[in-house]
Amino acid sequence: MRDSYGRNINYLRISVTDRCNLRCTYCMPEQGIESKRHMDILRFEEILKIVKAAEKLGINKVRYTGGEPLVMKDLDKLIYETSKLPGIDDIAITTNGMLLSDMASDLKKAGLKRVNISLDTLNAAKFKSITRIGNLEKVMESIDKCLSLGLEPVKINTVLMRGFNDIEFEDFLNLTRKMPIEVRFIELMPIGEGIKIYEKSKMSFMELLKKHPELKQIETQKSSTAQLYKLSGAKGKIGFISPVSCKFCDDCNKIRLTSTGTIKPCLHSKEEIDLRQYLNNQDMLTNVLKQAIYNKPLEHHLAEEKTSRSSKMMYQIGG
Ligand code: SAM
Ligand code: SF4
Repeated sequence: MRDSYGRNINYLRISVTDRCNLRCTYCMPEQGIESKRHMDILRFEEILKIVKAAEKLGINKVRYTGGEPLVMKDLDKLIYETSKLPGIDDIAITTNGMLLSDMASDLKKAGLKRVNISLDTLNAAKFKSITRIGNLEKVMESIDKCLSLGLEPVKINTVLMRGFNDIEFEDFLNLTRKMPIEVRFIELMPIGEGIKIYEKSKMSFMELLKKHPELKQIETQKSSTAQLYKLSGAKGKIGFISPVSCKFCDDCNKIRLTSTGTIKPCLHSKEEIDLRQYLNNQDMLTNVLKQAIYNKPLEHHLAEEKTSRSSKMMYQIGG
């Protein structure tokens, strides 16, 4: 359906849990995270009710994210039930990839179409330090597994941070020579823990593009938030996503569901609509969701204000 500014909202991102098996420094604090009680987190049957209401309103793309979606029990069942809804034709996940190589095959059988795997560095020691826990080898295994299963396109989410991974840009380029993947560099956003490092780590893609004239721009799908480039002869692509410096609010087609059952019509707005009280009445649920979509804010103000207005963190909202 269209919101009050005429944008076609067809994409629902769902944080199925705020728990995570990693602690990326720009996303989660190392300690002191208060785990939500199980009863405060939507169960998969409840998520499904919301997806059904969204489907009625014209949502046809669903992405399960988190926290880490693969730590949610029954994610495969949720994907399977989602895949049976006739209006939903695209089901994706965003994952840190630590558990994916073992689960990818079952998730694909359940109906998963595509994966985004987050990977901020190709150096094992740096990977351990940025994630505080992770193991690069597991993530690389997951990428290989997804490619072998044909879970394509495999997209890699890389948050660009000055002094951390800008110096690895050539290594990422080389990866696209060999692998049919799309490495998407995402601007660091001043939200949650990201606020603490934003000023020193933020960086514009233009700097990278100037140093690499061999990257040629290629056509981008209208629905894509990434500007895509390619090296001649490469199997993969490089994308740049600029939510801060070059916001794409005019073309935003998303709403988000948090793990505690609130709808966030805009990632960086304070506004949240609690759906839990309507879960036993599918018509009411659909109506409240319809209002939430219609009233989606026009835009965010990250570039001017340098801090997200959202009171929730990325791991609670889902990226
Ligand atoms: N745990 C999963 C993962 O890491 O892919 C899914 C959830 S995570 C919140 C989703 C995406 O948000 C990841 O690609 C992560 O790098 C990104 N992210 C988290 N904090 C961010 C920030 N401050 N700015 C930009 N991207 C951020
Ligand atoms: Fe976990 Fe993803 Fe946040 Fe990293 S970015 S801490 S993997 S939710």
